[in-house]
Amino acid sequence: MKIYNKKLISNSLQINSIADCYIELNDKDDFIEFHKFVKSKDAPVLVIGEGTNVVLPDFYQGIVVKPNFTNININKTDNTISAGSSVNWHEFVNFTINNNIMGFENLSSIPGSVGAAPIQNIGAYGQEVSNLIKSVDCYDYINNKFSTLSKDDCYFSYRHSIFKDNNFVIYNIDFHTDICQEHNLTYESVKKYMTNNNINPKNMTTHDVSKMITSIRSFTLPDPSVVPNVGSFFKNTVMNKKNIKTNKFSFDDLVLWEIDSSKVKVGSARLIELIKNDLKKFDNVEIYKNHSLVIVTNKNASQHNVIDFADHIKQQVFDTFNVSLEIEPSIVLS
Ligand SMILES: Cc1cc2nc3c(=O)[nH]c(=O)nc-3n(C[C@H](O)[C@H](O)[C@H](O)COP(=O)(O)OP(=O)(O)OC[C@H]3O[C@@H](n4cnc5c(N)ncnc54)[C@H](O)[C@@H]3O)c2cc1C
Repeated sequence: MKIYNKKLISNSLQINSIADCYIELNDKDDFIEFHKFVKSKDAPVLVIGEGTNVVLPDFYQGIVVKPNFTNININKTDNTISAGSSVNWHEFVNFTINNNIMGFENLSSIPGSVGAAPIQNIGAYGQEVSNLIKSVDCYDYINNKFSTLSKDDCYFSYRHSIFKDNNFVIYNIDFHTDICQEHNLTYESVKKYMTNNNINPKNMTTHDVSKMITSIRSFTLPDPSVVPNVGSFFKNTVMNKKNIKTNKFSFDDLVLWEIDSSKVKVGSARLIELIKNDLKKFDNVEIYKNHSLVIVTNKNASQHNVIDFADHIKQQVFDTFNVSLEIEPSIVLS
C-alpha cells in the first residue's frame, strides 16, 4: 500500500482536483492495512478508476483509493475470463477479441477501467456489461470483508447496480466467454452505418464489428484527452407518456421508446437538442457540437461550473417538457 498526501486526481473533465490523501492498493494483502487506515482516520473514501465518470471537487477532504490489479486470465474449462479492476476496459475488449471471444465488441472504446464497468452497468449499441458478467470480487473496507457477488447479487439495471451505494472496492471480475454466439447489429445507428458504408454483416469478423463501433463513436463523442468530458451527462428518463408536456413540441419531435402501455423511455439527447438555443452561456463549459448529452470543458472548469450548467439544463428541460433528467456521472462532494 502506497500513501500520498495532497495528490492530483486524474479525471477526464480535467478538473484540477486534489486529494487530501491518496492510496494505491497493489495487492490483496493491502486491503486489511487499508481497512485499519480508514478506521483510524474516520474520513470519507472515494474509489477511483480512470476518472472518466466522476465530477470531482477542487479539494477532496478524504481518502482516494486507487486499486492496481492488472491480471487477465482465461479459464477454458469453465468458459470464464477474469480481469483485474485496473485493466483498461478497451484493452480488455481487444484481449477478448484476440482470443475469439464474442459479446464485448459493442462495448469497444468505452473509456475507463474494468473495475468501474459494473458500477453503472456500462452499455452501448444494444449491449450491457451485465449480460457478460459472471461474478464480481470485492472488498468491504468498512467491515473488513471479502465477497464474491454473482450477477444476480449485483442487482443490475439501466446504468445502475448495487455498487452505486456501498463500501466496496472491486478488485476482480469474472466474465462469461461463451454467452454470445453471434454479433448484435440491430442497434439503429449500427444498421445505418452499415447501409451507408455498404457493409455486409455476414462478412464481418468480431474485430470488424469492434472497429465499426469505434468509428461510429468517434463521430459523435469527443476524445476526452483532447476535449474534456465524461460522456453522456444525463440518463434517459422512464416516465408516464401522458405526463410529458407537449405545448411547445409534439411527440413526433421527441425520441420515445415504448416500455409498456403507459410508460416510455424518453431520449434525453433530443430534449436538450430542442432547447439548446435557449440555454444561457456559462463559464468554461458548453454542450458538445456533435452530441447534446455531452458537456465539455475548456480545461479550466471547476466542479461548480459543471454542476451549475447541468442544473440549468435540467431546469430548462423540466420547464419545457416536464421531464426530470437524472445526472449519469458520480458527483463527488468535497
Ligand atoms: C467519451 C466518453 C464516452 C463514454 N461512453 C460511455 C458509454 O458508451 N457507455 C457507458 O456506460 N459509459 C460511458 N462513459 C462513462 C465511463 O466510460 C464509464 O462509466 C466507465 O466505466 C468509467 O470508468 P472509470 O475507470 O473511469 O471510473 P471512474 O470515473 O474512476 O469511477 C466511476 C465510478 O465508479 C467507482 N469505481 C471506479 N472503480 C471502482 C472499483 N474498482 N471499485 C469500486 N468502485 C469503483 C467510482 O467510485 C465512481 O463512483 C463514457 C465516458 C466518456 C468520457
